[in-house]
Amino acid sequence: AAQKERSYKVTLLPGDGIGPEILSVAVDVMRAVAEREGIKFEFTEKLVGGAAVDGAGVPLPDDTLATCRASDAVLLASIGGYKWDSNPPHLKPETGLLGLRAGLGVFANLRPVTVLPQLADASPLKREVAEGVDIMVVRELIGGIYFGEPRGFGVNESGHRYAYNNMVYSTPEIDRIARVAFETARKRQGRLCSVDKANVLQVSQLWRERVTAIGKEEYPDVELSHMYVDNAAMQLVRNPKQFDTIVTGNLFGDILSDISAQLSGSIGMLPSSSMSESGPGLFEPIHGSAPDIAGQDKANPLAQVLSAAMLLKYGLGETKAAELIEAAVSAALDKGYRTGDLMSSGKTLVGCKKMGEILLETL
Ligand code: ATP
Ligand code: MG
Repeated sequence: AAQKERSYKVTLLPGDGIGPEILSVAVDVMRAVAEREGIKFEFTEKLVGGAAVDGAGVPLPDDTLATCRASDAVLLASIGGYKWDSNPPHLKPETGLLGLRAGLGVFANLRPVTVLPQLADASPLKREVAEGVDIMVVRELIGGIYFGEPRGFGVNESGHRYAYNNMVYSTPEIDRIARVAFETARKRQGRLCSVDKANVLQVSQLWRERVTAIGKEEYPDVELSHMYVDNAAMQLVRNPKQFDTIVTGNLFGDILSDISAQLSGSIGMLPSSSMSESGPGLFEPIHGSAPDIAGQDKANPLAQVLSAAMLLKYGLGETKAAELIEAAVSAALDKGYRTGDLMSSGKTLVGCKKMGEILLETL
């Protein structure tokens, strides 16, 4: 068999606030792991968000989107800040982020929820419930009730105002998110829980029918279960360890992924990836640009570093390299190093740069 060419184009989007600081740590870590694994990265840095408003007059320059589209994966840090808060919509950093997601057609949002044993005390759950949680939430990102038509406001015959939205999913939309979820479950423990409200909603009945069919036809090796969203919300807090991979629609996924994010304690630890049909994936921490601590070397770079690990695993199929990065993060925490957001007594407080150096030593 021909040796797969392990050379990849990665677009880097540092964005605003703590973005440049945490991205620089992630890039150093990627370079180190590339050297160990015989991988080649061609990095290209581009402007997005407030930095692009200041530098190019728009939050998403054409050249940024074109470069992203032509790459194998995109690593984004964070965007936004007080400075641009009163800008008109077309000059807001957030408009750049939405444009980027739409421009790349990323319909599948993957959010891992892990409670590392070293950080179990940071979880609002009891240690025995929290420790060892390892879930992947796969959320449909560009369909469902947030986009369904028609939508709007009206006045009825009795003169009362009303408003309406539609939760609409077509079979191709369900099928493609289901496939991403099954593929994801396959790379994990091989268990997929599809969350819906099929006892009440027709859209959920079609969802359940299609997910079941795709499982039977294409992924018989993955163990599929179904759960109503109200029960899933309860189970995530009561016994989160029962879940491996969860797949759900846009609205339910929005809510469940925020519940799940809280389980792990710090926003500074959580990465995400957004995948398209065949183009490059977009990988970013779930936290924002943290303008309150920007430029002070205080930010936790681990969510960004773990986003780089997701890029390797889900964006490029470089699972081994991804696992090396995850192990380095775990080792740094084992040794007691903590940034301010994770700090507790008996641990060693480090800044963003220092945390990066510790990761490099481990690698
Ligand atoms: P956005 O609207 O972009 O999501 P936000 O205002 O909701 O941003 P964040 O920027 O995520 O929120 O910041 C929320 C809080 O968490 C802030 O106090 C910030 O300093 C802190 N925070 C966020 N990310 C990190 C990080 N990587 N390390 C340390 N603290 C962080
Ligand atoms: Mg936020």
